[in-house]
Amino acid sequence: MKWISDLIDLIFPRHCVVCGEILSPQEEDICLNCLYRLPRVEQMHRDEIEKVFWGSIDIMRATSYIYYRKGSPYNGILHAMKYRNRPEVGERFTIMAVEELKKSGFFDSIDAIVPLPLSKKKQSQRHYNQCDFIAKGVSKATGIPILKNSIVRTVANETQTHKSRDERWKNVQGIFTLTNPNDFEGKHILLIDDILTTGATLTSCAAAIQEKANCKISIFTLAYTYNEI
Ligand SMILES: [Zn+2]
Repeated sequence: MKWISDLIDLIFPRHCVVCGEILSPQEEDICLNCLYRLPRVEQMHRDEIEKVFWGSIDIMRATSYIYYRKGSPYNGILHAMKYRNRPEVGERFTIMAVEELKKSGFFDSIDAIVPLPLSKKKQSQRHYNQCDFIAKGVSKATGIPILKNSIVRTVANETQTHKSRDERWKNVQGIFTLTNPNDFEGKHILLIDDILTTGATLTSCAAAIQEKANCKISIFTLAYTYNEI
């Protein structure tokens, strides 16, 4: 029923999450102009992302899809999913990311996807966990199952924003607990977060898993912030 969606578009115009222009019926979330200039993390910069974890945890692979830079209009993608109650935007961008990444073999040999859990407090404030939607996107595009409720965030850590790298690490140590370590045993897990900054939270989660189970870990985040720490 194309005419119905066209009519709905006319009455309730949808806007590009990046530039705010009205979207055409063929466009979803982002206009073609902005999509064309999407700040993708290019293949040649992937090492840079894996380096974030060097010396702290043993990982197989790590990557992010787009850059999150201070003041960039493209941050609208993350803001829509995190703060504007539109987590499905993140799911759709993730599907796009996976379609592009699949060819490189990034998802090969991964057995299960684990979204980073939020603290109970944060989850009840936001009513959803944005990482669940990124995990859903990866699962839909790859067919890899999501491991649900196998890990919990037991401590609501304070905001990381104004902390140094050392302080961030201390702030997140021991905040994750595995509910059933057997779920992880012998598997290759893909840990999911929305934005990679220092990697402290992901490192803490990976350490909690590897402490209890013999498990390989790879990491996927929708965005990567560099030089903003
Ligand atoms: Zn746009």
